[in-house]
Amino acid sequence: MIAASVAVIVIVSTLLFKNQAKLHEEKTRVHGVALARALSSAEYSQLVPETGQSSLMRSLANVQGNENFAYAIVVNLAGAKLHEITSDGSIAPDASMPTEPHSWFGEHNVISPGDGRQIREFFAPVMKNGQLAGFIRAGYYNRQAAVMSNQISNLGLMALPIFLLTTLSYFLIRREIKPLGQLSKKMEQASLSFGVQALTPARNQDLGDFVQRFDQFVQLVQSRVNQLDKESLSSRAGTHLITYKQEKAESALNSIPDAVLVIDDAGIPTFANAKLEPILGVSHEEIIGRQPQEWCKNKEVLAFLLRFRNSPSAKRSVRMEYVSEENPDQRISVAAYPLFSLRDQTTLFGMLIIFRDISKEYFAKQAGAEFVSHVSHELKTPLNTLATYSELLLDHASLTEAERVEAVNVIHDEVERMAGLINNLLNISKMDNGTLQLVRKRVKLHDLIQDAFDSMSNNALGKGVELELKIPPDLGSVRLDKDLFRIAIDNLLSNAIKYSNPGGKVTVSAQNLDHDQMQISVRDRGIGISPEDCEKVFLKYYRVSNSETASRSGHGLGLYLAKQIISLHHGVITVNSEPGKGTEFIITFKAQPVQLEESQD
Ligand code: ADP
Repeated sequence: MIAASVAVIVIVSTLLFKNQAKLHEEKTRVHGVALARALSSAEYSQLVPETGQSSLMRSLANVQGNENFAYAIVVNLAGAKLHEITSDGSIAPDASMPTEPHSWFGEHNVISPGDGRQIREFFAPVMKNGQLAGFIRAGYYNRQAAVMSNQISNLGLMALPIFLLTTLSYFLIRREIKPLGQLSKKMEQASLSFGVQALTPARNQDLGDFVQRFDQFVQLVQSRVNQLDKESLSSRAGTHLITYKQEKAESALNSIPDAVLVIDDAGIPTFANAKLEPILGVSHEEIIGRQPQEWCKNKEVLAFLLRFRNSPSAKRSVRMEYVSEENPDQRISVAAYPLFSLRDQTTLFGMLIIFRDISKEYFAKQAGAEFVSHVSHELKTPLNTLATYSELLLDHASLTEAERVEAVNVIHDEVERMAGLINNLLNISKMDNGTLQLVRKRVKLHDLIQDAFDSMSNNALGKGVELELKIPPDLGSVRLDKDLFRIAIDNLLSNAIKYSNPGGKVTVSAQNLDHDQMQISVRDRGIGISPEDCEKVFLKYYRVSNSETASRSGHGLGLYLAKQIISLHHGVITVNSEPGKGTEFIITFKAQPVQLEESQD
């Protein structure tokens, strides 16, 4: 502030001083030119007076009263002084005068020989009798650079208001730019929060510093905006990627055949696929984000889910099985797997719970176990019979011819039964491990069904069951594996006779349907099958558990095998039945005329 005040004072003083110097110069010129010209036009005698005469030069110089007047002299053409007047202490220096008439009037600078001060000298010609006789030289001191004492007081008077004004302005400006200081601090804090680069520290509180920092701040904000722009772009790309990955993960979880539930650390579901609803009987909306107690109706499942809640130690792979409360035939297996963070395999963030309807597997397993004991029994019984009858035959002396024939027939029947069972088992095993090869041949469907029908007639007769065949003679030829297809039809036919009551009737029919479809039906009026069992009779080893079935021998393999064989021929087998009224099995498959098929096989 003081520096500013001094600067203002110095500038003002310099201007004043320069102005004064200019005024002085002009005044000196006016006086010098006037004195030289006035004396030049005076009589020679007046310029160089006789002794005792008054000097015109002195009179005129006194009239002017110029405080800087140094001298006035008259010199002849050789430069010798003819008359001179000087101010106190002044000595007129020598000077050469012009010779050309156009330069007779003029001025120049000379140096005072006494004190070395600069003198502005004005000269003019002195004429005598019309001839140039010499020159008038009037000298005036140039103004001293020093400041006059009266000027000092003026300066003092001037400096005071300047100083006061500067101080006032300083405080006013400070007050005005104070908010800028706060703004500057805020900019500093904001720039620090950018984490890129801080503003340079404030040097002082002036406007220039603030403008510089503001400029810096604008650049920082600009670069921060660019950076945020890039980050926003990459985060948008990241979000798209996450959404894409999430959609992929969800579609994968939705497409798996099991019901999937994901619960978070607090045991609250965050994902459930559509397959969960039929198993738990609650919709997706009722599950997500809600405590299991609010939606889980099954007590066992609820207890299973709650064990993972806020209990890290419980978060390990566990499984359980339960029977549906609504449907006792439905068995569900529940398996829970801990979900670990991909980055840190020790951080658990929830559990993946998979619900699987294992009813079919369960019943198949159960039936399998029953089958083993059943097959053992089925094989052991004929073996006992074989042993008994073979012993009888050994003792042939005591047997009549008729008894021997009967024994041999019994042994033959039992061997046939065992061979049939073993054959079925072998075919199933080949089918299960994929080694069964179809050998398609051209077959007249009519003949194939007729053969099967004929082979069962004795069997039907023995059971008191009537057999009926309804097939059109022009059924046509098809390409199929005759032996396998025959096993399927034999199984249906033998079942129809087996599960009929004496006096019953079995009808075998076949027909061509639209769209090249062919249909074979085996219908009986026997014991029938309940709707629930209709769904299960094609399962391996499954036998309906009722006394009617139990009283008939069987292995639970016939329908399973028939279904597999028809599937291999790209056909389907369905069942319609009513308990006590009878059953109809229908095979539908593509006719595939021989001519078209030839090239394909
Ligand atoms: P099985 O050797 O026991 O007959 P299948 O696989 O042929 O085995 O049949 C499975 C079960 O389906 C049978 O045990 C029986 O309970 C039922 N079944 C099959 N065919 C008939 C039918 N025509 N009438 C009534 N029940 C049948």
